[in-house]
Amino acid sequence: MPGGTDQTLRPFLWRAENLYPDTEIVSRTHEGIERYTYEEYSDRTAQLAHALTDAGMGEGDRIATFCWNHHRHFETYFGIPTLGAQLHTINPLLPDEHIQFIVENAADKAIFVDPSLAEKLAGAYDADSFDSVEQFVIMGDSVPDLPFDAVAYESFIEGHDTEYDWPVVDEDQPAGMCYTSGTTGKPKGVEYTQQMLWGHTMATMTPMGLGIEDDDVVMPVVPMFHVNAWGMPFSTTAAGAKHVYPGPSPEPEDLAQLIEEEGVTITAGVPTVWLGLQEYMQAGNDVDLSELETVIIGGSAAPKAMIEWFDGHGVSVTHAWGMTEMAPIGSVAHLKSGLAEELTYEEQIDRRAKQGLIVPGLEFKVIDDDGNEVPWNGEDFGELYVRGPWVTQEYFERPEANENDFEGNWLKTGDVVTVDEDGYIKIVDRAKDVIKSGGEWISSLELENAIMANDHVAEAAVVGVPHERWQERPVAFIVPTEGADPDALAEELREQISEDYPKWWLPDDFIQIDEVPKTATGKFSKKDLREEYADEDLVEGQVPEEAAPDEE
Ligand code: ADP
Repeated sequence: MPGGTDQTLRPFLWRAENLYPDTEIVSRTHEGIERYTYEEYSDRTAQLAHALTDAGMGEGDRIATFCWNHHRHFETYFGIPTLGAQLHTINPLLPDEHIQFIVENAADKAIFVDPSLAEKLAGAYDADSFDSVEQFVIMGDSVPDLPFDAVAYESFIEGHDTEYDWPVVDEDQPAGMCYTSGTTGKPKGVEYTQQMLWGHTMATMTPMGLGIEDDDVVMPVVPMFHVNAWGMPFSTTAAGAKHVYPGPSPEPEDLAQLIEEEGVTITAGVPTVWLGLQEYMQAGNDVDLSELETVIIGGSAAPKAMIEWFDGHGVSVTHAWGMTEMAPIGSVAHLKSGLAEELTYEEQIDRRAKQGLIVPGLEFKVIDDDGNEVPWNGEDFGELYVRGPWVTQEYFERPEANENDFEGNWLKTGDVVTVDEDGYIKIVDRAKDVIKSGGEWISSLELENAIMANDHVAEAAVVGVPHERWQERPVAFIVPTEGADPDALAEELREQISEDYPKWWLPDDFIQIDEVPKTATGKFSKKDLREEYADEDLVEGQVPEEAAPDEE
C-alpha cells in the first residue's frame, strides 16, 4: 500500500484527538486520581515522542515498560509505536532471572518504570543483562535512589512541543512485544506488528468481539503488562470511549469506587479479580453496579457461578479466550442469534461458560492425536489450531520453539478443546496437562473443577504421573479449607468422582498440600508442582520420568 495508508495505530489516535477531544482519561496513581482529556493525552503523547527522539530513539528501537495501569503507561502505548518504535511491556511479577533474560533478549534501549516497581527492577538489575538500556525513566515527577541513573517522566517530557509530525510507518513494522509468562519454560517473545494490532483492534471493537462504543467507560483491570491489557487501550481509543485505569495493585474497594464514581460500563480481568469483588460485596459492602453493563472475563475459565452471580446483579459477563501469541483475543462466548429463545437459562449459561465463538477474522481447526480433524459434536477432544492476521507465526529468536508450536501458518495453541454443533469452543485442558491413560484422554481441568466444587477444598491440581501399564495415571493435589479432615475429605471426593465420572478417571491418590504453586500471572503452575514431586513415588506402578514416553 502507498505510504501513510497502511494498517497502523496512528489513525486511531488521530480520530480520538479530533472527534473526541473532551472525552476523559482517568487514572488512579500513587499520587491519587488524575484526569484529563484526549486533547491533553495527545499533547503529552507528542511530548513523549519528542523526548524519545531527542534521546536518540526512534524507528525500530525496542522500548520497555515496567508499569501498572495508568495514564502515563497509556501515553507510551501510542507514543512509542506511532514513532515507529516498539512498545515492549514487561511483566514485573516475573522472577528476577526471567526479567534479566527478557531485557537482554529484547535488547531494550529504554525502560519506563513505576515508582512502586523501581525497587523490584533494581533487584533484578545487573549491568550485563541490562547492557542495551541507555535510559531509565521513572513514571512520576521524582527519582528514588537506584543502582542506575534515571530521569523522572514529567521532566523527561516537560517543555517539548505538543505537536509531532508523526512519521509514515510501515504496517509490517513491529509495534509491540510481550513475552509469554513461562508456564511452559523460558519466556518466549511475541512481536506484534502495526498491522496485527490494527486488525486485533478492529475485530475486538465489533459486537461479536468486545463491542466497545463511544459512550462506554472502559476500565481494564487486566494489567497493561499482560498482552496490552487485552488490547483495550487501543480499542477504547479507536472507539473514542472514556478510559479508566485502576493503577497499582487495586483492591476490590478501589475497583468498586472507580466503577461507581466514574460510571464504568465495561471492565475486564481474570476471574480472581472478580472473586475479590464478589467477596467484598458479600461481606456487606454495598456497591452500586447499576451503570456497569459488561464484565469481560478471560485468562482462565469463568466459573458458571460467577456468570450467574453477575447476572443476578444485572451485569452481563462476556467470557473471552486468548493467548499472548494472538494479541490476545481469539474467541468470545456471545450467544448466537436465536439461541437466547431456543435455550433454557441453564443451557445458555453452559454456552456462555465455554470459551466461545472464534472472533471475526480468525479461523480454527481441532486436531486429534492421529492428525485428523475432530467432528463438532461437543465431545471429541483435540488440540486447537488457529490462524489469522493477528496470530503470530513465530517466536522472537526461538527456532526450536517455532518448530513445535507452528504448523504452516497455523499456531498450535496447546489447548485441548471440544467444539459443539453451534461452533462453541470449550477448553477441556492444556495439551501438556491432559492425562493419557490407557489410550484415552482424561481432562485434568475437569477433575480439578469437580474437586474444587467440594466446599472443603480451597484449591486442587491434578497431574498425570508416568505409569508402567497405563502410560499415565492422575494424581490429585488438594488444599483443604481450614478445619477439614483430610482423610474423610479424600474419601468423600473418591465417592463424588466415582459417581460422576468413568472409573478410570478416578485419581490414584489425593495428596494434601499447603498451596498450589502459581505462575506470575496467577495461574496454577503444574510444571512447578511436577518438579517438586518428580522424585517421589506417588502411585503404584509409577515409572521414573526419564523412562516415560515423551509427551511433548
Ligand atoms: P501462559 O498462560 O502460557 O503464560 P497466556 O497468558 O498467553 O500465557 O495464556 C494463554 C492460555 O491461558 C491459553 O492458552 C489458555 O490455556 C488459558 N486461557 C486463556 N483464556 C482462557 C479462558 N477464558 N478459559 C480457560 N483458559 C483460558
